[in-house]
Amino acid sequence: MTDSTPTDVLIVGAGPVGLTLACDLARRGVDARVVERADAHPVGTRARGVRARTQEVLEDLGVLGDVTRHAETPLPTRFYDTEGRLVREATLYEAPPVPGAPYPGSLIVGQQFTEAALRARLASLGRHVELGAELTDVAQDHEGVTASIRAGGEPRAVRARYLVGCDGAGSTVRKLAGISFLGETWDRQRMLFGNLGVDGLDPAVAHMWATGTGGMVTLYPMPRSRTWFFTAPLPPKDGRDDAPVTLETVTAAFDRHVGLPGVSFRDAVYLSVYQVNIRMVDRFRRGRVFLAGDAAHVHTPAGGQGMNTGIQDAYNLGWKLAEALRGAPASLLDTYEEERKPVAERVLASTTARGKSWAGSDTARVSGRIVDAFRGRDPFADTSQLALTYRGGSLAVDSASQIGIRAGDRAPDARCTSPANGERVRLFDLFRGTHVTLLVFGRAPFPHLPAATRSAVRAHRVLAAGSSPDPSEPALVDSAGEAHDLYGIADSGLVLVRPDGHVGMTAEGPDAAAVAAYLRRITAADPSHPAPSRAERCATPVRPRTNPREGSDHFRL
Ligand SMILES: Cc1cc2nc3c(=O)[nH]c(=O)nc-3n(C[C@H](O)[C@H](O)[C@H](O)COP(=O)(O)OP(=O)(O)OC[C@H]3O[C@@H](n4cnc5c(N)ncnc54)[C@H](O)[C@@H]3O)c2cc1C
Repeated sequence: MTDSTPTDVLIVGAGPVGLTLACDLARRGVDARVVERADAHPVGTRARGVRARTQEVLEDLGVLGDVTRHAETPLPTRFYDTEGRLVREATLYEAPPVPGAPYPGSLIVGQQFTEAALRARLASLGRHVELGAELTDVAQDHEGVTASIRAGGEPRAVRARYLVGCDGAGSTVRKLAGISFLGETWDRQRMLFGNLGVDGLDPAVAHMWATGTGGMVTLYPMPRSRTWFFTAPLPPKDGRDDAPVTLETVTAAFDRHVGLPGVSFRDAVYLSVYQVNIRMVDRFRRGRVFLAGDAAHVHTPAGGQGMNTGIQDAYNLGWKLAEALRGAPASLLDTYEEERKPVAERVLASTTARGKSWAGSDTARVSGRIVDAFRGRDPFADTSQLALTYRGGSLAVDSASQIGIRAGDRAPDARCTSPANGERVRLFDLFRGTHVTLLVFGRAPFPHLPAATRSAVRAHRVLAAGSSPDPSEPALVDSAGEAHDLYGIADSGLVLVRPDGHVGMTAEGPDAAAVAAYLRRITAADPSHPAPSRAERCATPVRPRTNPREGSDHFRL
C-alpha cells in the first residue's frame, strides 16, 4: 500500500540526530516524517556529554532548558590503579564557559533525556515519531524517493522528496544507497555498558578503575535516572558469545577487573555491548538520499563526540533542505557533504588518537589525560566543538581583510545592550530562529538589497560603546566591546550569519550586490530558481517561513 500523502523529507531513525533534524525541519515549516524501527523509546544512557556547541544548537531549537533540567551535577571522579589504589580524584565535566560561548564545556545528561527533550519539542511543533516503522528498501528517481516501510507487520510505500538516513551505525539506508563504510573494527576493544543499581559504593563520587587490558571500568552515579552508568572492557568476540547480557555478565566483568568485596549490582534498566569501529562513509549523499550521525561516521567514545557530531550534521543539513525545498539552488545541498565530511574526518582522527592515549594501565598518566580532555585541555581537538569551522568551503566568502573573524567560523555570542531600554541583548538572541542575520558594525549604511532577497534577512547595527544610535534604526550597543573583540572589528564591517550560526560572508562595507548574490546561493530568494509547484513536487507544500521573533527589533532590508 502507498501512503496517500507524500512528504517532503522522510527521516529514518529517531535517535538524537534524526530528532534534531526533525525539530529543525518542523520549525521551518517543512513537512517531515520520522520513522523508527524500535517499538519503544530508549531508556538507557549512551552519550552523557552534551558539548558547548551542542548546547547552543539545542538553545536555538528551543530544547536546551528541558535538557539542562536533566543535567547531572558533576561529581568528583576517583581513579584507581590495577591494584585498587586511589591515584587521583578530580571533577570531570568542569570546563567553564569561554568568551563568546554562554555555556559550559559540557553538560552531563543521559542520552535518553536529550532524546526525550527533542521529542517533546517535536510534539510541540505538531509532529511525532512513528514507532515500530522499519525502513526496508529505498528507490529514487528524479522527483523523489519511494521508501518501503514495514509497520505493524504491513508493508507500506512512502513517497518523499528527500530521505535522510539517521539510522545509526548499522544503517540500512547507507547499505541500500550502496555507500561504503570505510575503516576498521578494533576487535580488542569491546565494552559492556548500561544503567543499573549499585550497592556498596559511595554514590557521592564516580569511580574509574584501570584494568590490565587497558580499558577502564567506570561506575558513574546518574541520580536523574536513579541508576549508575557502568562500563567495563570485554574480551574480544570469539564467535560463541552471543548470549544476552545480564546482571551476571556485569558482575563477572566487575569481579574480573576490580574484584571489590561488598559491591553488588541490581535492577538493570539497560545493558548492551559496544564494539569500537573507526569508520566513515566515502560520501554523505547519493542523489536524494542523505546520511547523518552514526550512519555516516563512528569512532571510539573517547572524548564523547559521536552524538555531538551527529547533531551538528543535522543542524547543517536542516536549513539547507528547507531552503532547497523552497527553491534554493540545488548546489546548496552539495555543501552538506563538502562541509561535514572534513569534520567527520577530523573527529575520527582526534578520537582515535585520544582513544590510544587513554589506553594502558599507567593510571596516573591516563587519568591526567582524561581530566585534561574534560577540562578543555585536550591535545587532540577542541571537544566542546566550538572551534568547528567551514573555512575555505564554497559557502565561506571573505571579502574583508580588516575583519578578524573568517567566513565559515562559528559566529560567537556577545553581550550587548539595547539602546531603547538598556536591557541586555545577546547576539544569540538575534540569531535564534530560521533566518539569516546581518550584523552591520559601525556607521556603514545598511546594504540596500533587492526585494527578492530581503525577506530572508534580519539586519542589526552593532555600535561601539559610547556611540549614539539613530533612533530610526534597530541597533545594539556593544557596551563592553565584546562583539567587536570577538568578531575582530576595529571600526566597521559587515558579517552575514547563516541560519546555522556560522559566518557566511564578511565585507568591509555595504556591498549590497555581494550580499544579494550570496543570499541567492543559500536561500530561495532568487526568482530564477522558483520553488517547484505542487504539481511538480511529489510532496505536500512547504508552509511559509515561520518567524518566531516576529515583531522583534530587526530590520527588513
Ligand atoms: C557507551 C557509549 C558512550 C557514548 N558516549 C557518548 C558521549 O558521551 N558523547 C557523544 O557525543 N556520543 C557518545 N556516544 C555515541 C552516541 O551514543 C551516538 O553517536 C549517537 O547515539 C548517534 O546518534 P544517531 O541518531 O546517529 O544514531 P542512533 O542513536 O543509533 O539512532 C539510530 C536510530 O535509528 C533506528 N533505526 C535503525 N535502523 C532503522 C530502520 N531500518 N528503520 C527505522 N529506524 C531504524 C534505531 O532503532 C535507532 O533508534 C556513546 C556511545 C556509546 C555506545
